[in-house]
Amino acid sequence: MDALIRGLHHVTATVNDAQQDVDFYVGLLGQRLVKKTVNFDNPGVYHFYYGNEAGTPGTIMTTFPYKGMGVRTGANGAGQITTTSFSAPAAALPFWRARLTEAKVPFTEAPTPFGEEALLFDDPAGLHIRIVGAPRDDREPWTRPDISAQQAIRGIHSVALNVRHPAITAGLLTEMMDSRQVGDDAGITRFAMGEAQPGTIVELLEARDDHAAVSGLGTVHHVAFAVATPEDQLRMRSELLKLGLGVTDVLDRQYFTSIYFREPNGVLFEIATLPPGFAIDEPLERLGTALKLPPWEEHRRALIESHLPPVEY
Ligand code: ZN
Repeated sequence: MDALIRGLHHVTATVNDAQQDVDFYVGLLGQRLVKKTVNFDNPGVYHFYYGNEAGTPGTIMTTFPYKGMGVRTGANGAGQITTTSFSAPAAALPFWRARLTEAKVPFTEAPTPFGEEALLFDDPAGLHIRIVGAPRDDREPWTRPDISAQQAIRGIHSVALNVRHPAITAGLLTEMMDSRQVGDDAGITRFAMGEAQPGTIVELLEARDDHAAVSGLGTVHHVAFAVATPEDQLRMRSELLKLGLGVTDVLDRQYFTSIYFREPNGVLFEIATLPPGFAIDEPLERLGTALKLPPWEEHRRALIESHLPPVEY
């Protein structure tokens, strides 16, 4: 089979307060809010998409701010993505140390076993976020007056999965998802696709004795991998079904189509298409400025808007 998986598409997390979330990802990390919409499975809750200018797949972090909706606080454990890493130029790490310090966000030095400097800290909901200093990352960053192109985050670097049985997830990644092992040190096995650039990296951490993860506020819900076309998505779906994995039907997410399945250690994976992208319902220069609803929810706009807290950015 030709390579179908092009890299990471996005990471989606369940978070707490909407305004704190926007302040963190836009105000502190300098990401662009490229889409303000609702959770298509629960339209009483926002769905924020953050990324570079266009929200290019591989740069996208997405959140569901569930504050006040009766969702429990999650707990890290086995069968979960426990760290989401962003990529910044290696030379920009001093800038990020100063920026986090200025914002009073506690961080620890967390160099990877693969020779990169990295800073580890929590977002306002408790998600573990890392900025990894990448030797090379050709992606075009979103910039703002206080964050130059030499400093700006390029996009998602990688996700780290805590799993009880790394070998089975490793087998899925290498045999089905176009990945190869590119590193193995200090209990962390690193896999990557293509040229192994940031945005294509998955790390497996053996967590044989961990209790099972609890989904909830402050935990990652799923990671999505990118395929180029709806046809590739269907090919991927049929290959996964042949393995005996329970895969959903193709779901219309407005900005891409998606299928979901749980990999054998329990982490929720999504396969999402590159097209059509975020400019399908508002122009590139105005991305994220208005609340966008999928066509099937427009008739309920007034009701939905009345339940969502205002956010400023
Ligand atoms: Zn998703």
